[in-house]
Amino acid sequence: MKTVAYAAQNAASPLAPFAFERRALRANDVAMEILYCGVCHSDLHMARNDWDWSVYPLVPGHEIIGRVTDVGTDVTKFKTGDHVAVGCMVDSCQHCDQCHNGEEQFCREGMTLTYGSPDRIDGAITHGGYSKHLVAREEFVLRVPDGLDLSRVAPLLCAGITTYSPLRTWGVGPGSRVAVVGMGGLGHMAIKLAVGLGAHVTVISRSASKEADARELGADAFLVSSDERAMEAAASSFDLIVDTVPVKHDLTPYTPLLDVDATLALVGQLGPVDEVQTTPLLMGRRRVAGSLIGGIKETQEMLDFCARMNILPECEMIQMDEINDAFERMERSDVRYRFVIDMASLALVND
Ligand SMILES: [Zn+2]
Ligand SMILES: [Zn+2]
Repeated sequence: MKTVAYAAQNAASPLAPFAFERRALRANDVAMEILYCGVCHSDLHMARNDWDWSVYPLVPGHEIIGRVTDVGTDVTKFKTGDHVAVGCMVDSCQHCDQCHNGEEQFCREGMTLTYGSPDRIDGAITHGGYSKHLVAREEFVLRVPDGLDLSRVAPLLCAGITTYSPLRTWGVGPGSRVAVVGMGGLGHMAIKLAVGLGAHVTVISRSASKEADARELGADAFLVSSDERAMEAAASSFDLIVDTVPVKHDLTPYTPLLDVDATLALVGQLGPVDEVQTTPLLMGRRRVAGSLIGGIKETQEMLDFCARMNILPECEMIQMDEINDAFERMERSDVRYRFVIDMASLALVND
């Protein structure tokens, strides 16, 4: 199937139109027309080869909302016309313990990423959602529940599940005391989801300037990390801190805020953090942990939860040809809170 996309041809080039073929349908494949695609920070990192494993041409995009156009002969869960979603992964071994536990992101043989990964069957490099069409195996396609505003669902597929999974892993529910560090694409979802789960949610920020926005998103309290007295008063007061900061930073101010046995979960930064002061960890059996997206079952649970609670990301809609500007604005944190590309703005050459 011929399709069009926006791709980076190398680490220095801006994204530009790119035509290629999606694979012919396998028996367990679902083909979709992509309606919307969210713009994740990792799209920018991958386009610029910041992690040193990008393969070009690179078509980013792993927050994908589409409409089914065709299904393979063995597909049972989807039919033409269904609204569906694809997140960060499109395949895994399906037989290891992690896959059996619904944690395909930790597949022992490695998950297949939605873009920039070799396909498990034909070895072709996968291409993501900044394109008109996608073909993915049924097991990695999610149902978009009725009633959700399709134009705002896309960021749930990465930002949503990335913050929902640690909330569920560490048992957040009514009365849990949750803090969120960082208020970008991930952080704003962490606030909404934790509030939705019934937690008392505090946003921790370097300055008071974001307090109104934090409360607008549903936060119950706001803590300024440069206010030493307030930070001391908040010692041992959280069950979970979700740290969404996407760059190298210092955890020292945050770990003393955890209660005994509580956890700081890193979800934003892939790489080093500043030297860690272990005293608060030992003195309260506090933990620093990481979390990576979530499994397919949990992602579906998150979508269904968001539909039930009417939780949606705050989105800024862009056209496909505005993507390079959007990348630049994202680098300056100049987005509230996630860009979503309206894929209708990308026309097929032969349309
Ligand atoms: Zn992402
Ligand atoms: Zn596996």
